Amino acid sequence: MGGAGSSWYESDIERIVATPEQIADKTAELAAQIAEDYRSVDELVLVCVLTGAFVFTADLARELGRRGVPVQLEFMQASSYGQAATSSGVVRLRKDLDRDISGAHVLVVEDIVDTGLTLSWLLKYLEGRSAASVEVVTLLRKPAAIRSAPPLTYVGFDIPSEFVVGYGLDYAGKYREVPYVGVLKPQIYSR
Ligand code: 5GP
Repeated sequence: MGGAGSSWYESDIERIVATPEQIADKTAELAAQIAEDYRSVDELVLVCVLTGAFVFTADLARELGRRGVPVQLEFMQASSYGQAATSSGVVRLRKDLDRDISGAHVLVVEDIVDTGLTLSWLLKYLEGRSAASVEVVTLLRKPAAIRSAPPLTYVGFDIPSEFVVGYGLDYAGKYREVPYVGVLKPQIYSR
């Protein structure tokens, strides 16, 4: 077991895009806005898009709780059918909702939106479930999303078109536990 000190991942990160403090402040800010917008709603269903959004969802749910918004949590996972399918927006549902959301106010919680293809598919799918409303919050948005993604109701940070990890986001299953969002060093990909 290693002791305290520099973490194993630090030398793999080129630069930090959002620090833990910046993420916490932004999450509180988003929660305040969401609490205001849903103040007359009895129940809000947070739909966490697995896997990357699990950390943001946990923090956002607790911030909403602190502001008196009762939330229910649901989890969905979608995956693309490989490269060609990704660009055509063909998506396979790997995990569906566990409850009926008809009549419910739904807030989809995303970690990052790039082209928005996966999200478009998910929103269409949710529209067919007769929710009272469906909105989206994403912690991170890349430039392509501004052109092509479906409307994003709440956006945390606009970031450049670079591959980031941390705060739930992975590369090959790693780095999800990193407490900040950072750009990976290029040599990590080319290994
Ligand atoms: P989109 O459909 O918006 O192009 O992107 C879908 C998924 O690609 C995101 O939910 C996320 O899983 C992944 N993705 C996009 N950009 C990044 C990134 O910079 N880092 C990581 N780790 N995943 C990303």
